[in-house]
Amino acid sequence: MIDKNENRFEEIISFCKRRGFVFPSSEIYGGFSAVYDYGPYGIELKNAIQAKWWQNMVHNREDVVGLDSAIFMSPKVWQASGHVSGFSDPMAECKKCHTRSRVDHLLEEAGVFADEKMSESEINKIFDKNKDKVKCPKCGSNIFSEAKSFNLLVKSNLGNFTGDWDKEPTYLRGETCQGIYINFKNVLDSSRVKIPFGIAQVGKAFRNEITARQFIFRTREFEQMEFQYFVKPEDAKKQYKRWKEERWDFYVNELGILEKNLRWHKHENLVFYAKEAYDIEYNFPFGFKELEGIHNRSDYDLTQHSKHSGSDLSYTDPRTNEKFMPWVIEASVGLNRILLMVICDAYTKEKIGDEERIVLKLEKSLAPVKIAVFPLLKNKPQLVKKAKEIFDKLKTAWVCEFDDNGNVGKRYRRQDEIGTPYCITVDFDSLDDKAVTIRDRDTMAQERVAIDQLPEYFSQKFS
Ligand code: ATP
Repeated sequence: MIDKNENRFEEIISFCKRRGFVFPSSEIYGGFSAVYDYGPYGIELKNAIQAKWWQNMVHNREDVVGLDSAIFMSPKVWQASGHVSGFSDPMAECKKCHTRSRVDHLLEEAGVFADEKMSESEINKIFDKNKDKVKCPKCGSNIFSEAKSFNLLVKSNLGNFTGDWDKEPTYLRGETCQGIYINFKNVLDSSRVKIPFGIAQVGKAFRNEITARQFIFRTREFEQMEFQYFVKPEDAKKQYKRWKEERWDFYVNELGILEKNLRWHKHENLVFYAKEAYDIEYNFPFGFKELEGIHNRSDYDLTQHSKHSGSDLSYTDPRTNEKFMPWVIEASVGLNRILLMVICDAYTKEKIGDEERIVLKLEKSLAPVKIAVFPLLKNKPQLVKKAKEIFDKLKTAWVCEFDDNGNVGKRYRRQDEIGTPYCITVDFDSLDDKAVTIRDRDTMAQERVAIDQLPEYFSQKFS
């Protein structure tokens, strides 16, 4: 029997393609696994989420600055960070259909706890003990090879003209935060920040993920929004608590996610340097899964880069002259994962009389199109001219769409589907009373508003 949620998820995936949010990569060539492209509405939604995060994490704060570091870094960065030797997932192959799976995920599906950070022998012990419970997601068999660690870093030949990639590979960054650590001193020396302070960055990351299912939840190329807050060691506990609260608030108050769909997951099995780690999980159609990780990383990162680079990354307090290695509180999330969450959260089907409408009940400031402008009839030049004038005025402040195609009811349905909060219709009365009808996406209520009041009306609505 097909699960109701599975049906809903399949429907959301096809909706994303049909309405220009997300396309499978290289589709005309038969596709390219675990990589996706973002269409006209997808990029607007992604930009809106990113802008909200940036506003909340950088512009609203005096103690946080931004950064845009390069995707490529010296390979020494990845040696120092431990990624070359230890950035791996445990993988096993189904002996029947040869599908490769992540062993921690197979065990999780079977209700057995295992962490991807466990050693090969630790995870093989648990795997062996529970082999009758695990199942290949493709063919259902439980006969697997041993678990082997598979490194996730993506290699390239950038700057290497020897023809041998393995000799001195350069890596596409596996996470954006290493760029923050290696610029810690640059930021400190070039701006007025003092500890405690944070550095935020948004950018692409690449991982050779073994299993990439669940649409854009886990992909090989994705965007991270990462935030590192540098603190005095004795303040780390207090700051960790603060950032856990701040990040939870962001989802509830800024993105409008219902608290019942979010939960905390505590990591019991910490890597040796981590002091505390929690994930915020969201109830995706395929269950509660990690959305964002919030970690107290101690002084590990700056110490490692100090040791390996020979540059002292410690901090001297200008007030007390006290010298110490800052600790780091990290909040790390995938932008694409947030996008999937907000679409799943907003995707709604409603009965209106005998009809059904699909409406994306996005938080209004996230909507890809904020205002749609329609002339009542396409073949009435006066109405079209007036609607164009309104569109031209409003588009300088909000993302607007002009639509004169089909009857107004159909146009409302199209805009509901992409989550447009307001539709304006210019009708014959508009030419006399200099007012238009504004229809609200959620309530479907209509009101008449004077044309010259529109900028103020929408400023209030989107404030
Ligand atoms: P997992 O255990 O699921 O592989 P992780 O714990 O290794 O993930 P982190 O390295 O902590 O993930 O990455 C921080 C955030 O980046 C995650 O919470 C997630 O939102 C996002 N992320 C990580 N890997 C991917 C991916 N392959 N595709 C999309 N987003 C990702």
